[in-house]
Amino acid sequence: MVTSLYLMPTGKCNCVCEYCYCPEHGKRGDSSLFMRIAESFTAHVCSSNPAARPQIRFTGGEPWLEEELLLDVTNHFFQRVPYGWVVVNTNATILPEESLRNFRGNKQLIHVVSLDGTESIHDSRRKMADGRGSFHEVVKGVKMLIDLDLPVYLNAVLDTESSNHLPELLSFISSEFDLNELSISIRYTDTDPMSPEVRYDLLKNAYSVASSHSIRLGGHHRLLLGSLIPELSCNAGSSTALIDPQGMVYACQRFVGRVKPDCMWTEDFDWSGFSSGQRPGPICGGDDDLYVGKRLFELYKKEYPEYLYCHQLDRTLFGVLS
Ligand code: SF4
Ligand code: SF4
Repeated sequence: MVTSLYLMPTGKCNCVCEYCYCPEHGKRGDSSLFMRIAESFTAHVCSSNPAARPQIRFTGGEPWLEEELLLDVTNHFFQRVPYGWVVVNTNATILPEESLRNFRGNKQLIHVVSLDGTESIHDSRRKMADGRGSFHEVVKGVKMLIDLDLPVYLNAVLDTESSNHLPELLSFISSEFDLNELSISIRYTDTDPMSPEVRYDLLKNAYSVASSHSIRLGGHHRLLLGSLIPELSCNAGSSTALIDPQGMVYACQRFVGRVKPDCMWTEDFDWSGFSSGQRPGPICGGDDDLYVGKRLFELYKKEYPEYLYCHQLDRTLFGVLS
């Protein structure tokens, strides 16, 4: 049964990051279709009353470019499913402060914001469309969310260069934002994938630095432990469905543009019985992922036993966990 709906209402963005993961770059979806999808999902949640926390997650492109749709979907969902979550993955540079004031203190409207480092590292990778670095805008956006008492989580893309500067980032987020959690994503490129050994080394270093700053880590790498820690098993394609700007249905955001969609979303979409036939192939679950997962498991056992359990941070960051 689908309990997490991922909506990708637009592939457009006001930023031009060096590594944009959005395969639908530039395409904008039909907002009336997305509203109907959200209404249909909400009706399904209300009638099935799932044990898992139901949620709608916006991704993109920059979802806040579709402000009206985001607000309509969020209001509709919260009115009918007051215990649900709405999670927005955003660059935080165009947050609509006035509209967000109406949600002040709402702990179920969650933002996950990309911040890759302190100013020089972040700005070398993540720029606004006019070429300016986006760091100051992002910091302003995060502070606004904190002032509005809305939950905010940061995600940093990690590679060898940014890993060397991780201590500065962790000091910054704890002193500037008083945050004690961080999501990390290992930088991924189809054409030049990192070896599993390098990925593991980056993660090992990140855990060591985070531990010395009393910061908890989360991120996609946690799903690599699914075969060893059942609570971290990814349920993409049964408890999740993602709709891209064309209205096509996928199991997972990372499959968009890489595997064939399951189908086009239609009004009779079966939320209760959806079971994706997509196979992730090289995208996830291969031998390299298993290697990294196993080594992380050993690292946790030896040095960080608190990570051997699924944490609230894991569920906040990913709708694919049951
Ligand atoms: S903010 Fe996200 S969607 Fe926009 S360009 Fe950067 S990576 Fe792509
Ligand atoms: S299906 Fe998607 S979320 Fe799940 S492990 Fe694969 S890439 Fe990650």
